Amino acid sequence: MRRLHRPALKFESRQDLFARQKNVTSAKSGREHWDRYRRSKPAKEVISALEAMAGTRQRCAYCSDSYASDIDHYVPIARDHGRVFSWKNFLWVCTKCNRQKGANFPVADTGEPLLVDPSRTDPWAHLTLDTATGFISPRYLESTFDPVGEFTLSVLPTINHEGVAEGRARVCRSLKKAIGSAATAPSSNQAREDLLTLVREDDVAVSRWYGYWEGSQEPEMVALRVASPKLWRRLLRACSY
Ligand SMILES: [Zn+2]
Repeated sequence: MRRLHRPALKFESRQDLFARQKNVTSAKSGREHWDRYRRSKPAKEVISALEAMAGTRQRCAYCSDSYASDIDHYVPIARDHGRVFSWKNFLWVCTKCNRQKGANFPVADTGEPLLVDPSRTDPWAHLTLDTATGFISPRYLESTFDPVGEFTLSVLPTINHEGVAEGRARVCRSLKKAIGSAATAPSSNQAREDLLTLVREDDVAVSRWYGYWEGSQEPEMVALRVASPKLWRRLLRACSY
């Protein structure tokens, strides 16, 4: 799961969504209007904007698997028909996550959602990464698990399905190796470029884990900070999205 930045929609698309929302009077009508819209020409503009958010490999906003192809309503239509045509409620996801999530939308007693919205927060604030296996767990707080992380993983076990966890572990291995090489040979242009390329191309947020979260305490990162503070800062900038 990776922090996503939502671009502004074109004025025409915003107006179109606004006009459509006015016709929605219930969850049932929302679903009907949505099904018609999904096949319409104006939807293509919105899909292009979501595709741009997903990056070249079209990573799913939840599990980070490639081939995202569905629009998910973060707050499901069944739970709030007032957001059927809300741009900020759309995430570009894979079919597996979309089916898995369905109308599930856990909320706290306070009404706060207990599901990570990667377009609003850095998912690592609620989740932790096992760099050896690529497995994601809820962040452990003082005496309990982070409820947002916990519910997110229970609604979307797809985040840890074998293929994507393995993919994350693979990026961790490459990154660790590249950080270690750059720390050992801080004046090597090749080592520096190899590392920065890996960070720029990382679309599963592992480098952000190393830059800003617990990964920053791993021996390779500590060694890099000492050996080349300049390169260490460049790494942080490259994953500061
Ligand atoms: Zn997915």
